[in-house]
Amino acid sequence: MSNDDKKNEAELTGTTQRRRPKPGVREVGGRRLKPATLMMGHGYDPMLSEGSLKPPIFLTSTFVFENAAAGKRHFEGVTGKRPGGAEGLVYSRFNGPDQEILEERLAIWEDAEAALTFSSGMSAIATVMLAMVEPGDVIVHSAPLYAATEGLIGKILGRFGVQWLDFPAGATREEIDAVIAQAKAKGRVAMIYLESPANPTNALVDVEAVSAARDAAFGGADKKPPVVIDNTFLGPLWQKPLRHGADLVLYSLTKYAGGHSDLVAGGAVGAKALIDQVRAMRNTIGTITDPHTAWMLLRSLETLELRMSRAGENAAKVCAYLRDHPKVERIAYLGFLKEGTRQADIYQRHCTGAGSTFSLYLKGGEAEAFAFLDALKIAKLAVSLGGTETLASHPAGMTHLSVPDERKKALDIGDNLVRISIGVEDADDLIADFEQALEAV
Ligand SMILES: *Cc1c(COP(=O)(O)O)cnc(C)c1O
Repeated sequence: MSNDDKKNEAELTGTTQRRRPKPGVREVGGRRLKPATLMMGHGYDPMLSEGSLKPPIFLTSTFVFENAAAGKRHFEGVTGKRPGGAEGLVYSRFNGPDQEILEERLAIWEDAEAALTFSSGMSAIATVMLAMVEPGDVIVHSAPLYAATEGLIGKILGRFGVQWLDFPAGATREEIDAVIAQAKAKGRVAMIYLESPANPTNALVDVEAVSAARDAAFGGADKKPPVVIDNTFLGPLWQKPLRHGADLVLYSLTKYAGGHSDLVAGGAVGAKALIDQVRAMRNTIGTITDPHTAWMLLRSLETLELRMSRAGENAAKVCAYLRDHPKVERIAYLGFLKEGTRQADIYQRHCTGAGSTFSLYLKGGEAEAFAFLDALKIAKLAVSLGGTETLASHPAGMTHLSVPDERKKALDIGDNLVRISIGVEDADDLIADFEQALEAV
């Protein structure tokens, strides 16, 4: 639409179009700008905010309409009476300027059509599931999943008659085919939900194989179940699952994207049609990020590539040191996958970096693990990951304490396992810390 057309339409409908930010520069001299460049300004027009270089934090619960017809037109969009969805800002349970800028920038990392942000990673996951599942449906998922996600599927959605079937994270195409066939016999398959790498084993899921298995099983159906993946551990820098056949990528933005261990938030990126389905649920239940957290995430995204790159380099150095230490049994780190194995093949096809979160198995048991953790001087003893600081925790005694012993064994969660997330400190300082902590074991 040209500006004149817009003006005519505004006159005809009696509305004034919302002032939109000037379209951002996406290309210079035929060169498509990289996400790291676009994070500084994309989606924000300083001239709409008194020239302020950075977006203000818009602390408001509601937005003023220019006139009554504009208000009606807006609600026609929200309620679906007029196609195209909502155009402007209306009420902060639906959207806000900080969240919209954040969502535009988040989508850029994976070349996605659209994105949404949420009050937490779990509220992103819950909102997606509520938007897509019905009683009697089956959720097919990779295993293990983040504990709260398993609880949401098994315990909470289970109360509403939703069923589930799983396959192990490293499953082959044949194994995935078999589980999908079993699921189809049980009911309508609502979605195929993945988490890769799995926590705490770091086992990777073959997203390409899952997507191909889904297409083979549902090729003729009007609506194929979407492949949804929690990409918290490697995304958005080291793994971009939309390129490998996933339809919707979910995040705990609390981790690498937020990156400073000072906020809790979630995200979803994917095709606009799927995102709009989730948006309708988010509008209803109000699981959107708040403006302040959205602003913090805008700041975080400016340094995302710097932080993740440094953390990844640090982890490679620390793991190289730990691998050969006499008190270390082994390390589950994606950088050490054995050539020629199926996991290495998945890694080469899907990932561009090994991340900075890994599992360290000490020789011994709980006593050795606790002695190591208690001796650390730089690394902090805390759950979570992806922050600027290095964290270490004991899954068997902490995050996975309530997991039955049999299951712990199957998942390789021993008493000698220490989970480590490497930050952006000086790598040699970190190595010195691990060295003295291992001496104390
Ligand atoms: C932390 C985490 C979540 C949950 O995110 P919150 O922001 O804590 O709600 C989900 N999935 C994975 C893989 C996580 O690490």
